[in-house]
Amino acid sequence: MGELSAGILPPGGTRLPDPDVSAGFSAYVHIPFCRARCGYCDFNTYTNPNFGPGASLEDYSQSLNLEIELSARVLSAACAPGKLRSVFFGGGTPTLLAADCLAEVLHRLETVFGFAPGAEITTEANPESVTREKLEKLAENGFTRISFGMQSAVEDVLSVLERRHTPGQVALAAQWARELGLEYSVDLIYGAPGETEKQWEESVRAALELSPGHISCYALTIERGTKMGARLARGQISAPEDGELADKYLLADELLSRAGYGWYEISNWALPGRECRHNLCYWQNRNWWGYGPGAHSHINGTRFWNVKHPLAYARRLREGRTVCAGSETLNRRERLEEQIMLGIRLARGIPVPSHVPAQVIGQLCADGLIERRPLSLNKRIVLTETGRLLADSVIRRLWEGI
Ligand code: SF4
Repeated sequence: MGELSAGILPPGGTRLPDPDVSAGFSAYVHIPFCRARCGYCDFNTYTNPNFGPGASLEDYSQSLNLEIELSARVLSAACAPGKLRSVFFGGGTPTLLAADCLAEVLHRLETVFGFAPGAEITTEANPESVTREKLEKLAENGFTRISFGMQSAVEDVLSVLERRHTPGQVALAAQWARELGLEYSVDLIYGAPGETEKQWEESVRAALELSPGHISCYALTIERGTKMGARLARGQISAPEDGELADKYLLADELLSRAGYGWYEISNWALPGRECRHNLCYWQNRNWWGYGPGAHSHINGTRFWNVKHPLAYARRLREGRTVCAGSETLNRRERLEEQIMLGIRLARGIPVPSHVPAQVIGQLCADGLIERRPLSLNKRIVLTETGRLLADSVIRRLWEGI
């Protein structure tokens, strides 16, 4: 059994039940700093670059290194941990940290766990936060993939989202990545208040012109507690209608498929073989350790998460205490629900769930929301295009059937 810290149990006294990661696992590394907060952002990120020792842009990597050592103690208490299959630096804005700091954390992960052959090493990057030199340094130090937050190719839309880059900066950053032999992806957001269908089409076409291996398209959600949420509450902007979001999703799917990008997860499209393996680790409910304040981990059906504030996180690590703020171990039913919720989002779908009555599956097929694949063998169920638009309702109906 591995404890979440050397000798100190997390709240609830949970231990990791037989944390067998001998076949390998993935790592998410959270960088909780941004230059400014975008209007729609509700991520665990801060514009203060210096909260104190171990929680500043300059020395945050030291805290991450301490958590890496801690995770090694926890995991190796139960088994010899296998190598890392993928590492993903997200945020926040990881590229606000110096390339040397990112490289130092990556090297620590490699020293402690090793990388599986062909491991995918990604960092998110805001286009305005990279230079050619920085990308070059990342490539030299083992990063294989950059995920650029493009969001839109239209200046007005970028300004509604309060993003600070220009469309030209994305094109330049993608060009550098291409020249340096880095795999790269771009993220787009649709449904910003006031965005027309034509502007959305322009953004998708502009993303395609960058020739990335992978494109993500996310519907904007306006959360309470964000600047955009406050503007919505004051009636200064309106949230996009469901119909508008659906039309934009279908338009993106059509343009991307025509260009050879297949959807492999509801919001993600890739050229053949260029799917993000780290993303797949989440959707396939595999094991990963999340490093950094507020980061979530999943090891063998137990989920646990870290304290949210960078300073509390750094302090605890320096004092040799656990950074775990809570944990839950799912029961059998919850695990089944989770497998459905995550797996049905994938283009490969899920095996026909034996615990869901045949008539529920039959009705979802009759409603045109799922289909059986391959038809002859009836082995898996996969969302149809309409099902992708109504995935939450499909998941609910499958859960009710359990
Ligand atoms: S760059 Fe990303 S994490 Fe940072 S404020 Fe904007 S949306 Fe949030």
